[in-house]
Amino acid sequence: MCTTSLLNVVGGEMEADTGAGVSRAEKKALDKAKIVHRETERNVLKTVTRILKKAEDERSEEEARTLLRHPSAVEQVRGRSVRSGQQRRRREEVCDGVEELRTKVSQLAAAVRCAQHLVVYTGAGISTAASIPDYRGPNGVWTQLQKGQAVSSSDLGRAEPTLTHMCIKALHQQNLVKHVVSQNCDGLHLRSGLPQQGLSELHGNMFIEVCASCVPAREYVRVFDVTERTALRRHATGRRCGRCGAELRDTIVHFGERGTLEQPLNWSGAAAAAGSADLILCLGSSLKVLKKYACLWSMNRPAKRRPLLFIVNLQWTPKDDLATLKINGRCDEVMELLMKELDLQIPPYNKAEDPIFHQATPLRPEEELSHTRCLIAPPAGPEDHRPPDGQGPAPGAQGPAPDAQGPAPPAPPPPVQGGWFGRGFSKGRKRKRRKAV
Ligand SMILES: [Zn+2]
Repeated sequence: MCTTSLLNVVGGEMEADTGAGVSRAEKKALDKAKIVHRETERNVLKTVTRILKKAEDERSEEEARTLLRHPSAVEQVRGRSVRSGQQRRRREEVCDGVEELRTKVSQLAAAVRCAQHLVVYTGAGISTAASIPDYRGPNGVWTQLQKGQAVSSSDLGRAEPTLTHMCIKALHQQNLVKHVVSQNCDGLHLRSGLPQQGLSELHGNMFIEVCASCVPAREYVRVFDVTERTALRRHATGRRCGRCGAELRDTIVHFGERGTLEQPLNWSGAAAAAGSADLILCLGSSLKVLKKYACLWSMNRPAKRRPLLFIVNLQWTPKDDLATLKINGRCDEVMELLMKELDLQIPPYNKAEDPIFHQATPLRPEEELSHTRCLIAPPAGPEDHRPPDGQGPAPGAQGPAPDAQGPAPPAPPPPVQGGWFGRGFSKGRKRKRRKAV
């Protein structure tokens, strides 16, 4: 195109030519052509999608010809439909039948008997029976937050260890399980009686706050969720260390963070356990987060020397293809069958023996109003949970009122949103969006 005609087109305004010698008018024309082309393509895709939704014998001749004229659009639409079907199937919960479950669990029992070093990885699916929502299940925390729905955590303080927690504790006691690595922050493994050195809580524990200024870091176990004020990169709980006066922080690894605390995360314990593992049993985890921690999967070993991998989950996981066996069942059902196969008793959860009541440090009088979360109520009189060191004042700070007889009256459930899962997550998302604008 000559320069004069270009000048006419752009109204006399000369633009610097690009390196390829394309003027502004030419670029405009090209852009317009691109827009028209995209619009046409979109319309073709719409038409092809509509036609493909019909059964083959219901399509008119013209429609059949349209499909023949646009083979790449047909391929694209079919590909999309295959992918969305796959996504849908991955979200679906699948249950093995009774017989299949039995057969699979006896295979698992055989593997447990032979294992020298069994490590258990647990996710939110083992706590759903304790009324704690899972993350990526159809009603999970993650799923609900993705839909923009509020998540209530008012029941968290009332949750108790499930049958699965108790089975894991028993297997650890029998020395059949060497270590437990959990993504859960609900503290239920410790409350089942599993010792802390046998556990890595990779994302923290909602009942533990720590003083990072004391050396070694000083842990304060509480009988309430300590995370109500904490969120992404905001860890201060509002209370102070009884020894040095420094601010206490929660132990939660909020969405978008990397965990740095030694305890209760215990990464060294998790890595050492994974390094020696010859059998890994994954219970109720989507593994979408755990799969990212390379050190947990012994991928540096040659394939034949990697640990056997058994996965118990109702939904698809990204490790399914690598699993020795995938068991599509609820954790409690599978664990009950497993304990039968191994001829082991399942210890019932006994609240009076819940270690949290002995481990808990009572609040100082001035801290009594420092939280609004429900207390884990002890089963009977306050003597059952009075801390052994006699530190701190009235049991009323963390239990029923001193004059209360019998079990604590039900505390009114505050309408809270989760500190340890809800707020951290949404704050992170909002911040990201703002940055993107
Ligand atoms: Zn301190």
